[in-house]
Amino acid sequence: MNEVAEATGFAELWSSLADLGRDRTTGGYRRFAWTSADLACRDWFASQAADRGLTVEVDRNGNQWAWWLPDSGASSTDVGTEPRRGNALAIGSHLDSVPDGGAFDGPLGVISSLAAVDLLRARGWQPERPVVIANFADEEGARFGIACAGSRLLTGQLDAAKARSLRDGGGVRLADAMEAAGQDPDALGRDDERLADISEFVELHIEQGRWLIDHDAPVGVASSIWPHGRWRFDFTGEANHAGTTALDDRRDPMLTYANTVLSARKKARLGGTLATFGKVSVEPNGTNAIPSRVRAWLDSRAPDEAALDAVVEQIAAAARERAERDGTALEVVNESRTAIVEFDHGLRDKIRKTLTGVFGPVPQLPTGAGHDAGILAAELPTAMLFVRNPSGLSHTPAEHAETADCLTGVAALAEVVAQLAGVRPGTNRGSGA
Ligand SMILES: [Zn+2]
Repeated sequence: MNEVAEATGFAELWSSLADLGRDRTTGGYRRFAWTSADLACRDWFASQAADRGLTVEVDRNGNQWAWWLPDSGASSTDVGTEPRRGNALAIGSHLDSVPDGGAFDGPLGVISSLAAVDLLRARGWQPERPVVIANFADEEGARFGIACAGSRLLTGQLDAAKARSLRDGGGVRLADAMEAAGQDPDALGRDDERLADISEFVELHIEQGRWLIDHDAPVGVASSIWPHGRWRFDFTGEANHAGTTALDDRRDPMLTYANTVLSARKKARLGGTLATFGKVSVEPNGTNAIPSRVRAWLDSRAPDEAALDAVVEQIAAAARERAERDGTALEVVNESRTAIVEFDHGLRDKIRKTLTGVFGPVPQLPTGAGHDAGILAAELPTAMLFVRNPSGLSHTPAEHAETADCLTGVAALAEVVAQLAGVRPGTNRGSGA
């Protein structure tokens, strides 16, 4: 991997982004969409692209695109006109973060994309068709509550009027935040022109689990994104005095809730799915009062739709049965649901074949996390490469990947770009723009 380290200056590239939006006390990143930290990251992206002679554009939804265009060559008939951008291979990821996020979730994909272009150019290669590096806006949804907002707006999966009126914790509207950053909020919405330019999207990302550790491989290819959803469980009972109400006389929704958490864990384990109660609100929330209501949110994910339906139904059934015994009531409301994303099989198989030829067997793994590649999959063939994460930790300052694995990721992405965009020795060796 010395060639990769030298050709790309990966270490310098990495450290040039490392301080932006980092909280000094926690060591985590707070790069929330359209804040000064995010804008600093966007400036960094634009200047890295400019340094490479890549043309940077911002689309109507705030996503940044840096174009590496084929050398038009001496025989070109359209001298003086804009080079054609259609049929592009898109690569890239995002630079924003969750609260106190790690350094790798997002940035690894953007930095690896820049480095992959450097590596191919260092070999004196040119693409036969356009390659474009994307920095998707507001992927984490940490500020306005909707994940993958940039790619959802681009594809029309997020309504523009709804997006404009989203508010952050301080009451600032997304429209105003974007306007302050120089974006026209009235221009938000599905962008057919942009989508028509792109033929495939390949996103490299740090793995957010331990699959590659268990399979002893530095890089893997995604098979699917698990279907997932959020359900609100409202347990209601009767508020009463903690000191004067006999146990037998209580209608305690906390008891029903607590049993539901235990059964969720058990049902998920037995069904090979995931179930998490991570958010709860209690009324009246007093130390010496039996609660009148416990409202809790279930996040559940599964390998397929049927397994997801089954586990949620089993958890709800167990909760109802327990509520009957406790004299409490239960209402379950589905607040959101995202269908399974199967990454394009043709593209995935082509990538695996390319990488296996160079690096040996490349495992294929599902993921429980959402990504821009999952959103774009509804429009065009998309694929993902994952880079090994030794701890499996993600969305925490402890998130990490070894440099050697990151360099393997860059080399793998460069192979994929070379294969898909027909990058090979050009007439104009190592040309900048
Ligand atoms: Zn991410």
